Amino acid sequence: MRPARALIDLQALRHNYQLAREVSGARALAVIKADAYGHGAVRCAQALEADADGFAVACIEEALELRAAGIRAPVLLLEGFFEADELSLIVEQDLWCVVHSLWQLEAIEQATLRKPITVWLKLDSGMHRVGLHPADYQAAYQRLLASGKVAKIVLMSHFARADELDSNSASEQVAVFEAARQGLSAQVSLRNSPAVLGWPQVPSDWVRPGIMLYGATPFEEANAVAARLQPVMTLESKVISVRELPAGEPVGYGARFITPKPMRLGVVAMGYADGYPRQAPTGTPVLVAGQRSQLLGRVSMDMLCIDLTDVPQAGLGSTVELWGKNILASDIAMAADTIPYQIFCNLRRVPRLYSEV
Ligand SMILES: *Cc1c(COP(=O)(O)O)cnc(C)c1O
Repeated sequence: MRPARALIDLQALRHNYQLAREVSGARALAVIKADAYGHGAVRCAQALEADADGFAVACIEEALELRAAGIRAPVLLLEGFFEADELSLIVEQDLWCVVHSLWQLEAIEQATLRKPITVWLKLDSGMHRVGLHPADYQAAYQRLLASGKVAKIVLMSHFARADELDSNSASEQVAVFEAARQGLSAQVSLRNSPAVLGWPQVPSDWVRPGIMLYGATPFEEANAVAARLQPVMTLESKVISVRELPAGEPVGYGARFITPKPMRLGVVAMGYADGYPRQAPTGTPVLVAGQRSQLLGRVSMDMLCIDLTDVPQAGLGSTVELWGKNILASDIAMAADTIPYQIFCNLRRVPRLYSEV
């Protein structure tokens, strides 16, 4: 059997969720969209359900997967419905629904609903992706109330640059939000992971942590709270071939690495078809036989090469950590010019093994 696998530490997931609640002092919707950022939405939801205030997903398909698995906790659809006919399922499955556009508001007004629904009314406070214009916000709130189809409204918005702690952007968005919701007495939800970790002064009855649940920092620089996160996913495999090369020999596709000296090379069963980023250059860190080493040459579809020259204890069958508790996914992301979100979401083909400890 191919030795590539992703170990998922559910105890670490619970630790990170509790940390989000502890540092925010708020209720927390665990964001498990996109199959829990590659960690497996159903297993993660099951591991958190006893403690969780609720979950958030991107669409009704993801919510239905949770309900089918027996998850009864609140589930918020972060983009609401894409088509009005989803509303009957939203009622039937008892889902919470973001309203981010006037067309959604109109669809609710026109729908016949068996029961009133819970709406999270989203304001565009400056990101300019989705959300109602500040000038429309109060009227939208009043129309939802007047429709008789809504049991509860939570006021929400989303930050564009909360991961940049020296930027004014988040404060400016909070000011826009505060002005738009003036006089409305409803619960509010603003903070994603970077805002939970880095913006303690931002008001929130509800926080929406995603990436931090999985133990990765959204920041490029060090952060005291992020340092308390525990990585949840360990991507590992084994050395399947070892070779000794003299100086001047090319390694891998495109001969992107030429041995500068006699070297000992290990081939690992892991490639970009598993989600390991092809953009990771020579020098990207790996852990082999418990020691840090580095990637050599281009990542192929099913294999990659690492340096064993200074790791004499490593050989055929040695365990390799591509990311996890020792090699941080955020460091791999940085090396590959992407973000840990994408590193996790790209995971595929490798079996996921779940552990409670
Ligand atoms: C994905 C998402 C989150 C979670 O963001 P993280 O940066 O992973 O914490 C929160 N809120 C909304 C609206 C989202 O789409």
